[in-house]
Amino acid sequence: MTDLDPDEFRRLGHAVVDWVASYRAALPDRPVRPDVTPGQVRAGLPDLLPEHPQPIGTLLDAVDRVVVPATVAWQHPGFYGYFPANAALASLLGDLLSGGLGSQGMLWSTSPAGTEVEQALLDGLAGALGLDDGFTFAGGGGGTIADSASSAALVALVAALHRSSSQEGSGTSRWRDEGVDGRERVYVTAETHSCMAKAARVAGLGARALRVVEGVEMSPDALAALLRADVAAGLRPVLVCPTVGTTGTGAVDPVRAIAGVAREHGAWVHVDAAWAGVAALCPEHRGLLDGVELADSFCTDAHKWLLTAFDASLLWVRDATALPAALSITPEYLRDAASESGAVVDYRDWQVSLGRRFRALKLWTVLHTHGLEGLRAHIRGHVALAAELAGRVTAEPGFALAAPPSLALVCLRRDTGDPEADDRATRALLETVNASGRAFLSHTVIDGRYAIRVAVGGVTTGREHVDALWDLLRSTADLHTPLATTPTSGTIVG
Ligand code: PLP
Repeated sequence: MTDLDPDEFRRLGHAVVDWVASYRAALPDRPVRPDVTPGQVRAGLPDLLPEHPQPIGTLLDAVDRVVVPATVAWQHPGFYGYFPANAALASLLGDLLSGGLGSQGMLWSTSPAGTEVEQALLDGLAGALGLDDGFTFAGGGGGTIADSASSAALVALVAALHRSSSQEGSGTSRWRDEGVDGRERVYVTAETHSCMAKAARVAGLGARALRVVEGVEMSPDALAALLRADVAAGLRPVLVCPTVGTTGTGAVDPVRAIAGVAREHGAWVHVDAAWAGVAALCPEHRGLLDGVELADSFCTDAHKWLLTAFDASLLWVRDATALPAALSITPEYLRDAASESGAVVDYRDWQVSLGRRFRALKLWTVLHTHGLEGLRAHIRGHVALAAELAGRVTAEPGFALAAPPSLALVCLRRDTGDPEADDRATRALLETVNASGRAFLSHTVIDGRYAIRVAVGGVTTGREHVDALWDLLRSTADLHTPLATTPTSGTIVG
């Protein structure tokens, strides 16, 4: 037998769980972003391919010695970069259960529970988010858990390509038989996440397929004009991608108006709400999803701000046959009576890969452990903290909001009246804060000006942490005065 003895696994498993618990408990005292130089990790690694079995203790030692000091602590309460990547402890337990079962759910028949728990969870969550019944299996649509919003964008695009060239009644499409013809067009804005451009590239459309519609928030009028011009030129509008919560500033495209325009030309509407969508669990944020009932697909990541460890991107489609129609290929070895009965969902047909893990278990564990009430409190707490931070920024001389705050995202910059000096000072502020190890921030450029993004959303981020961040920002800004100095970096003491 090559596996661990189950009793040995129990002992080692306890040691690993203890390690994780200690790591998380000590996180607030560690730097968020460690000071690492390229090559440092490889130079410090022990023999990774030992000829003979080694005790787990030496592996944990190496993790402590080499890995932890070179790991950005995304679960640190002082992490405000990019968007959060919540990995709540409850979700880790669910992941362990999933690995423990070790099932592979490519077909319903290879993992009936894996399939149906996922279906039930996605149906339930559709209701909890206020999505209409058309996105549930009972309503003719349905949801799946993809690995990422990027994969969700790709499969939505592929379904759109199939639909846009399908031949009535034939069960196939020109795209499926012959591939792309160069006339396909996909509509985004300059703020749309790059995953849609990547999806277009992977799907073989080429960069020329991307139409960038005017507006920080997609302008329905500009979209309508582009669509009309493209159709008149013999091009084929395949997909329009409005975003709810753009990556740069959290801007929200007017989904209802966009979907109305897109539908006139038969284009698929994919709503990318990767970060912000989960906020719709709170009734006061439901307005974010206004018009999503007109969309063909909707995606939001549980692995960003919904406590669930990567990877768990929730994708709903309004037509449960759309993804299988585009993606299903059935060689003999996958033929299966349950599939042929038409009574089951085979999730292999909803994604690129064949195999899949039981991702639903970690999401279920999160929902079970925290309840919808706990998830709403998680989101509401961060939205309130971000609003307070935005108020402080507005009130503080020398600081300014760089964009209207959106949910728990605050974009800010230094403000002295000289745009070039402000940019230098804002960049220096970010670099110094990040070098301090006490908080981690990332940046964007808004209207050509450098801005710091503060994405409040860590699993354990609370008032004291956001207060400390504000103190750090202010004291660091004081150190950088006068503003015209060149960027500094280094550790801030005190
Ligand atoms: N869409 C938006 C709006 C995002 O902000 C992001 C990531 O931040 C993505 C898509 C990509 O997410 P994923 O890592 O799940 O592919």
